[in-house]
Amino acid sequence: MLQQTVVATVEPYFARFVARFPDVATLAAADDDEVTALWSGLGYYARARNLRRAAEAIVSAHGGALPASEEALRALPGIGPYTAAAVAAIAFDARAFALDGNTMRVLARLTGERRPVDMPATRAALHARGLAEVPRRRAGDFNQAFMELGALVCTPRNPRCDGCPLAAGCRARAEGRAASLPRKRRKISSAWMPPVINSQSHLTPSPRALLHKSPRKPRLVRTPMMSRLGFNCRRYSAACASPSIIVRRACSP
Ligand code: SF4
Repeated sequence: MLQQTVVATVEPYFARFVARFPDVATLAAADDDEVTALWSGLGYYARARNLRRAAEAIVSAHGGALPASEEALRALPGIGPYTAAAVAAIAFDARAFALDGNTMRVLARLTGERRPVDMPATRAALHARGLAEVPRRRAGDFNQAFMELGALVCTPRNPRCDGCPLAAGCRARAEGRAASLPRKRRKISSAWMPPVINSQSHLTPSPRALLHKSPRKPRLVRTPMMSRLGFNCRRYSAACASPSIIVRRACSP
């Protein structure tokens, strides 16, 4: 319930929800409509449906008890790598590392990571590095401390390095690069790009989208060829990446 939602909003919903569904078995036996009705107003209803489906899986595959391993948690509906690692570490003291924006930023700065953190290989390397640091005991405390460090000290802007308990071993701080890390990929540099119809095919001849080079307002111009082919220009996602401009994605008509 707390994903994308503040605690004060969640509190009454949570109280009603656990009063109606006091355990996993009760939730597993409920139908989607009743669950989403109690969720009504919180938004993101897939969460409610996934929660009920996860309860079903916990009852059918785990005897009604939440599995303790990160791998088994990840197999439950609605649980991704971050949640699985966080639950495994915090609830079961398993050696797992929850990599999110905060913890990734701290790790990128500590290690002076120069590669863009939005590349899967970099994320994997940072996750491995974080996991290597998790102690054998109190893995949950370690994870929560790392999360808090990222949220309160090693902030995206103006990190408070002088009060940071990891300052002595921080590479970014030593090199004066804390403010410039983590790095993200530069956008592809191209003012002209052939749009992709779908993952299998490209148009031939390629209609091209012309983006005007304005740093603030990229503007997509519909070419006659695009109009003939029925392209919907509004579905193109365009963005500036100074000094160049990209077309990030082209969608089918
Ligand atoms: S010393 Fe600064 S940059 Fe390094 S981890 Fe601490 S707050 Fe982040």
